[in-house]
Amino acid sequence: MIVRCGACHTQFEVPGPGKFSCPACGSVNAVRAAGARPGPGQAAGAPPGYTSPPPPPRPEPPSPRVQCPECEFRFIVGDIAVATCPNCGAEVPTGRGGEE
Ligand SMILES: [Zn+2]
Ligand SMILES: [Zn+2]
Repeated sequence: MIVRCGACHTQFEVPGPGKFSCPACGSVNAVRAAGARPGPGQAAGAPPGYTSPPPPPRPEPPSPRVQCPECEFRFIVGDIAVATCPNCGAEVPTGRGGEE
């Protein structure tokens, strides 16, 4: 029989009545025997306040890194032409930005 997850509304197949974890979100859904009717207060369909699930987080862009020629410390730099090494204070050209 096909049931619908109460949490994410994914439909999935179960062998019969019982408790089953949703394959999509892992929520446990209690499945009643066929013929059992939902209570009068349980209407089918999505609730009026239903919102789509949030989009997956965007992957972070690769962080530009430079390596300090003085101490070989690697650090992340912004869009600047010359960065200051946080380890030894040397000025490190990044080869980035700097366009005026
Ligand atoms: Zn689910
Ligand atoms: Zn350094």
